[in-house]
Amino acid sequence: MTAKIIDGKKLAEKIRKEIKEKVKKLDVKPGLAFVLVGNNPASQLYVGNKDKAGKEAGFYIETHHLPENTDQLKLLNLVDKLNQDRKIHGMIIQLPLPKQIDEKLIIEAILPHKDADGFNPINVGNMLIGNNLIIPATPKGIMKLIESTGVNIEGKYAVVVGRSNIVGKPVSILLQQKNATVTMCHSRTKHLVQYTKQADILVVAVGKAKVIKADMVKKGAIVVDVGTNKVNGRLVGDVDFDNVKKVASYITPVPGGVGPMTIAMLLENTLECMDLIR
Ligand code: NDP
Repeated sequence: MTAKIIDGKKLAEKIRKEIKEKVKKLDVKPGLAFVLVGNNPASQLYVGNKDKAGKEAGFYIETHHLPENTDQLKLLNLVDKLNQDRKIHGMIIQLPLPKQIDEKLIIEAILPHKDADGFNPINVGNMLIGNNLIIPATPKGIMKLIESTGVNIEGKYAVVVGRSNIVGKPVSILLQQKNATVTMCHSRTKHLVQYTKQADILVVAVGKAKVIKADMVKKGAIVVDVGTNKVNGRLVGDVDFDNVKKVASYITPVPGGVGPMTIAMLLENTLECMDLIR
């Protein structure tokens, strides 16, 4: 068996084109603000990619690049200014933030209806009770990738490896909403393979190269690899792609899987924020 590749790049391009068409018909440009603190090269690259995608889709984009030693109050003031700014419908505070800043406090300061990332506890809480307003972009993209296979999620056994607030936990909730039976695994899980080997749907968000090997995957599984790891200057996922693709029925590549979908979902979320404001 060789798995079909779930082409996130292609799906994301299609979604971005649809967004661009929608934007052309609007009387106001969707406004998206990025806030970048410090000079983390990965963060700069991510913001650059999102900025480019937003401009291509016809959005009004503002990027605020603050120095590494920015204090919390200054950042809170900027968030407050963006909360009040009528041109801005959504904002993204690029994480991680420097140590002197409490990330939780900053995320809580973003008005829930301007929270394009969907990280504000109000949006997360709403999602938990099934009231999906703004869904975190990466989990939302993961669900679209799984749905793009045409496989019915209902009744499937899904295993999510990783329990972060931005990927693992929300994707588990979304899979449950689609009536999958979900197990969440993490660094303290004993005998990880016992779970992964049973999974019809396996989502891996760990941040360690090749943590999932072929003998840990059920034959015919759908495998979504969220991980981004640099190995010898190359970007690789958390899944041993070359071997797992011989076992799985569908698999996402890294790069070209989840990453491009995250960007498309951020744009979609900004349009949804705009709908909530208007
Ligand atoms: P975090 O570091 O916040 O969480 C990692 C999770 O993996 C934790 O829950 C941790 O467990 C668990 N874990 C660590 N080691 C193991 C192990 N050996 N076995 C099982 N579980 C383990 O990471 P994120 O969720 O933020 O990101 C995960 C990966 O996804 C990263 O590579 C990140 O770069 C990538 N990513 C990609 C995005 C994209 O758009 N392409 C977007 C967001 C993330 P514990 O809780 O016990 O510590």
